[in-house]
Amino acid sequence: MNLEKEDIVRLLSSTGDEEQALLDKALSCKLEHLDNKVHLRGLIEYSSRCSKDCLYCGLRRSNSHATRYAMTDEDVVNCALQAMELHYGSVAIQCGERSDKAFTDKIAHLCREIKRVSDGKLGITLSCGEQTEEVYRQWKEAGAHRYLLRIESSSRDLYYKIHPHDDCHSFERRISCIETLLRLGYQTGTGVMIGLPFQTLDHLADDLLFFKRMGVAMVGMGPFIPHPDTPLWEYHNQIPSPEDRLRLTLKMIAVLRLMMPKINMVSATANQTINPRGREQAILAGANVIMPNLSPSDYRKEYLIYPDKPCVSDTAQQCASCLDLKLKLTGHEVLYDEWGDSLAFTSAQ
Ligand code: SAH
Ligand code: SF4
Repeated sequence: MNLEKEDIVRLLSSTGDEEQALLDKALSCKLEHLDNKVHLRGLIEYSSRCSKDCLYCGLRRSNSHATRYAMTDEDVVNCALQAMELHYGSVAIQCGERSDKAFTDKIAHLCREIKRVSDGKLGITLSCGEQTEEVYRQWKEAGAHRYLLRIESSSRDLYYKIHPHDDCHSFERRISCIETLLRLGYQTGTGVMIGLPFQTLDHLADDLLFFKRMGVAMVGMGPFIPHPDTPLWEYHNQIPSPEDRLRLTLKMIAVLRLMMPKINMVSATANQTINPRGREQAILAGANVIMPNLSPSDYRKEYLIYPDKPCVSDTAQQCASCLDLKLKLTGHEVLYDEWGDSLAFTSAQ
């Protein structure tokens, strides 16, 4: 569906019956194009070391309270074996951003190891930040086929309100990385945080139009959760309430589903921080991907991008059975043992 900016802003401001009608329409649209299957990416939170200083994130390099770790190769391989055992068809490696060669070679090595121990069966999504074209190519050759790099805000102005103004944080570079990923043939995903300080419905409508214009195959959007050890905490009383941030996230997902019926859309874990049913609510609003955590719990509690992360003390096993049950209750089914590629990507090939 082609929506103009004014239509999008109107839908994002809907309340009551109109809001419910939007969510219902998005669910029907998803069921029509993608069926009731929910794709899984087992999340491996590889490392909390980060060279960037994003003003919203607990892993920013200036946060001296953050505990820094990197998993060993063996830890990562064990996560992959766990994914196989739980019949997840796919894993996602996420971490703080680094660009040194030891790091970029390590990610390539880990991709090869995951492919080796799974006999090529596990799909690999990476979310390891901005890199050169050469590194993105190296990682693709090592076996990664999907990449998530959120633009965070498609408004240059807002981007620089939530990132420092320095060479390390460039809006143009972020866009150019997304373009490179698309050109290299990755199934490419982007996204934004919702409910940021200074963010308006106009910004959010522009974000949705940006995703469509870029022609990405995947989108991950989630509510902003203020972190007390970051500069943006200062504004935590001036942003919408947690419930309103979640509602706005659900409406963003619903509108985007109508605009881009075939893309893969992630229900962010941050939804669950706000409401225990938040993850399922996003599935009912049009999302079709969930990233259950595979990280051992010792690491989980240190990977604090935002506070009050859910399920930090659960095992991967507990996450798997809880998820299966919760999704069945919403009339959805988990797609096991498959990569779950984006139909927007495969049908464009
Ligand atoms: N370093 C990589 C991947 C890890 S961060 C990167 O930045 O791309 C993954 C995502 O977490 C970010 O894209 C951001 O959108 C989200 N995030 C960071 N801080 C957050 C917060 N306080 N609330 C909600 N989401 C946050
Ligand atoms: Fe680092 Fe990513 Fe957090 Fe920015 S959002 S500080 S790049 S982990």
